[in-house]
Amino acid sequence: MLLLAATCAGPAAAGVIEQSDRLVRQGYDRPEPALQALLQLQREQEALTPRPAQTVRRLQLARAIVLAQNGRVAEAGMLAEELRTGTAGSEPDEADGTARANLVRALVAENDGQLDVAAALAQAAVPVLQQGCPGPDGAPSTTSADCDYRAAWRALQVIERHAQSRALWAEGARHLRIAAQLAEAQHDSYRQALVLGLLALDIARQGDMPGAMRTLQQAQRVAAPLDDPDVQVRLRLHEARLADMRGEHQQSLRLAEDALPIARKADSPRLESLLNANLSDLYARQNRPADALRAAEAALPVVRRHGDQRAERVLINNAGLAKIGLGRIAEGKLDLARLAELWQRSGAPGSEAQSLREFGEALAAAGDARGALELFHRERKLSAEVMKANRAAALKDVQQRYDTESKQREIELVSRDNALKTAALANRELQQRVWALMAAVMALSVGVAALLYLRVREINRRLQASHANLRLQSERDPLTGLSNRRQFQAAMARGGERGVEGALLLVDIDHFKHVNDGHGHSVGDAVLVEVARRLAGCVRENDLVVRWGGEEFLILAPAVSAEQAEQLAARVLEQIGREPVDSGTGGGSEDVLRVTASIGYARFPLPPDDLPVPWEQAVNLADMALYTAKGQGRNRAIGVIGAQLRSADELKAIENDFDSAWRDGRVRLHEQPGPQPDLFS
Ligand code: GH3
Ligand code: MG
Ligand code: MG
Repeated sequence: MLLLAATCAGPAAAGVIEQSDRLVRQGYDRPEPALQALLQLQREQEALTPRPAQTVRRLQLARAIVLAQNGRVAEAGMLAEELRTGTAGSEPDEADGTARANLVRALVAENDGQLDVAAALAQAAVPVLQQGCPGPDGAPSTTSADCDYRAAWRALQVIERHAQSRALWAEGARHLRIAAQLAEAQHDSYRQALVLGLLALDIARQGDMPGAMRTLQQAQRVAAPLDDPDVQVRLRLHEARLADMRGEHQQSLRLAEDALPIARKADSPRLESLLNANLSDLYARQNRPADALRAAEAALPVVRRHGDQRAERVLINNAGLAKIGLGRIAEGKLDLARLAELWQRSGAPGSEAQSLREFGEALAAAGDARGALELFHRERKLSAEVMKANRAAALKDVQQRYDTESKQREIELVSRDNALKTAALANRELQQRVWALMAAVMALSVGVAALLYLRVREINRRLQASHANLRLQSERDPLTGLSNRRQFQAAMARGGERGVEGALLLVDIDHFKHVNDGHGHSVGDAVLVEVARRLAGCVRENDLVVRWGGEEFLILAPAVSAEQAEQLAARVLEQIGREPVDSGTGGGSEDVLRVTASIGYARFPLPPDDLPVPWEQAVNLADMALYTAKGQGRNRAIGVIGAQLRSADELKAIENDFDSAWRDGRVRLHEQPGPQPDLFS
């Protein structure tokens, strides 16, 4: 009898675990029957001899998850304690019990909004929970315990949500990738698809939309055979989010609205409320406050019933904003007060700052400048704290992983994150001026107020342009912090068919190979960073400086005259070539390098014919002028100041043979020398 029980323990335990897995899913919507069934299973296991201690712990964990997911944190906390101390008569396995207890405590803390605490607990739990699971190479990492990848999968997501709340997308993505690998190794398509869907969002937030779409498609492929409405709805939601990020708002709404009948089919009120919460967000973003409010109010009761404070915060946020949008300002402010209460306990300052910002904007739009200003001050303070904490946390984290191969990549991504946040902060500075001016408008006499109002409009316009810019620049060149080529292309694509307007300069460092060869690649890098800095100093706020490739940069200065374009080229030559570059190696005069650049540029539309020139061909023309500048001896700028361009064919002919076009006068060039070496200080 005893022998039989022992030999059957493996497969029997597997069956129990599958069953408990199903019950946890059911418990998401219907906790009571699920909890009872889980307890029943646990009792049965406890009666076996020998007692399968690990299976019992898994069942305890399953119950705790159901409890935590339903906001029953006190009971979940008690189970965590049981897991940590072990139940009487069981084989002690301290590490395993503690790890499970930590996961439960992480879920409880998360439910309570304490994301920092949650992430630390989950971090502690993951290595133990992952024991015995196959590593990336397919071999089990250790063999001391059965792999409980489901628990590890859950803990990794807690860590990811924390990273997300701090806008550390790369960090979040890293954990989701591990979770996806764990699920894939166990052929668990359900879990694999779910985390791949989330991963797609993190990738998109890092600015890589094509990568995000590929990941989402992978998730959909993995999910297809399952025919599971729960996964379908979640992936559909992610798809809607991605469409929204691409600016395809109609498509986004359609995707989310189409998911409603699928959610109903899933017979899951919570899933439906999740969908409604997202819909409320999408409606709000499309300036449909009445719809946003309706969706938020449909979701709120379910979310409250299940004690899901995280979702409750989002929904109250949306409902409050919608009310302000509908002119119900006092009610909206009440929602904000309720939110402030929830934040009191929350460890998500990033989300709090965002809410303050949104409410501030909504109040400003509704004409309550004083209210807006007050929120703005709160937000500024919080944002500064978050940024400081983020920097410290991100750098510490990178330091810890300093020796891994991914070092370089991580550092790049962190610096991108930080660049983005710095830009966001600068934007908020501008916002402050809007609100301060609005407050002044209200306080002053009509004549002055009208003037100030114009100023507000102007700053607002710049603010909006700068917001668009911010999104645009979400992917930057990691070395120099400049925009990268893809960014520029995206901006051009948005410009449509109109052709380039303004000055376009291609700047290429002269004999850069010598710098690398003579001083090493790292000195070369330092020179690139310095040149980028100088370029950025030459241009105006609305100009775009792009790292076009290796040691080549592109400047787009919209709305400048031909004369201004020429001055800009002269300024760039001067800035790069006048002062030697300090290579930063800390030595003596041998660290000082003389750097010059050659420039090809043109200002569009080109006189006399003013033919619209598509950006690809505009870049081509600048490139040919650059090539000419190199041929003429370098350290100079050559501008295309006029061209016979009555048709696209004439443009093509010039592109095909620029030299003869120049010689026979179909293009007119203007040359300016750079600073001469003997003038170097
Ligand atoms: P020219 O005056 O004709 O432009 O000569 P050049 O040496 O500047 O041009 P070339 O295109 O022959 O060489 C460019 C060099 O730039 C080659 C490449 O190794 C180096 N490079 C490209 N990207 C980087 C980078 O990120 N860091 C460093 N250190 N070097 C780079
Ligand atoms: Mg060069
Ligand atoms: Mg080059």
